Amino acid sequence: MKAVVKTSREPGNVEYIDVPEPTAGPGQLVIKVRNAGVCGTDLHIYKSEYLINPPVVLGHEMCGEIVEIGPGVDHFKLGDLVTVNPSAGKTCGHCRFCQVGAPFFCIDRAALGSGINGGFAKYCCVRQGVVFPLPENLDDQTGALCEPFACSLQAVAELTLIEPGDIIAVSGPGPIGIMCAMLAKIRGGHIVLLGTAKDKDRLAIARQLGIDRTVDVENEDAKEIIDDLTQGYGADVVFECAGVEASSTVCLDIVRKMGRYTQVGLFGSPIQLNIDQVVLKQLHFQGSICHTWETWERTLRFLRKDLIDLRPLITKRLPLSQWEEAFQSVSNGKGLKFLLHPEE
Ligand SMILES: [Zn+2]
Ligand SMILES: [Zn+2]
Repeated sequence: MKAVVKTSREPGNVEYIDVPEPTAGPGQLVIKVRNAGVCGTDLHIYKSEYLINPPVVLGHEMCGEIVEIGPGVDHFKLGDLVTVNPSAGKTCGHCRFCQVGAPFFCIDRAALGSGINGGFAKYCCVRQGVVFPLPENLDDQTGALCEPFACSLQAVAELTLIEPGDIIAVSGPGPIGIMCAMLAKIRGGHIVLLGTAKDKDRLAIARQLGIDRTVDVENEDAKEIIDDLTQGYGADVVFECAGVEASSTVCLDIVRKMGRYTQVGLFGSPIQLNIDQVVLKQLHFQGSICHTWETWERTLRFLRKDLIDLRPLITKRLPLSQWEEAFQSVSNGKGLKFLLHPEE
């Protein structure tokens, strides 16, 4: 079968090539991929800024159909539509982090799509413990957004205190940023979403989705706008979702004293940041990465409730062979979520 493969540790070296079709071993399932989302992490993997184990099939945000069931699997049947928690693709199951349900930090972990073969292929073989029936109200495209949504849910609903009426700035209007903004809105915040001039279309989509105010930081003064909304105090909460140095500087600048700053974006390399601001403003400054098992369960429960419509975030669905177009668009900040699907 054809797959999008990271072939070596060197930057670049991603190719659309033939790989063997997997078969399900004990406790495993083979999923026929319907859709797999392209994520900022895939770009970090492309540039070799992320833990990888090449050669490896990329793709960690996926939805598909069970087509083969290995020995010892009893609670799935052929044809089930499923989504996958890729971060727990392979874990040790007994380290301190596995015990507390935080597989991302497992000392012997391999994630789908970076450590072990992922979903940018016709078939993906996974252990049954990471496979979940797709909530009935989701289609097989939205189903590929469960994973990035879980990342946003952890940052906004689990790790960051948000109180009704909080003025919340989210910087970086990519899929994660917009999902964080939508969730913060549901939690009762007044949302200001920050982007740059090239994010014009993304900011327009965000406004259609009910985000209160969008700001083009290149042509508008974010600080002035936040100050106007907060009698000069600054934003109660900021989420940095761009993974860009200038954006983190703006976030530190606009967050109020004793406010909350959550870093969601990854920069890929060290940046300059005035950490004195964290002290002098006495901030709750924290990072959020991926999600725990508890978050994952909550994500599926939440999506089942139809409280949020993720479909407007899907920009385009492309065949796997056109992966470069999707990577390029994500890299240029064009559109929001790109889905890849195997050719029939
Ligand atoms: Zn992702
Ligand atoms: Zn472990």
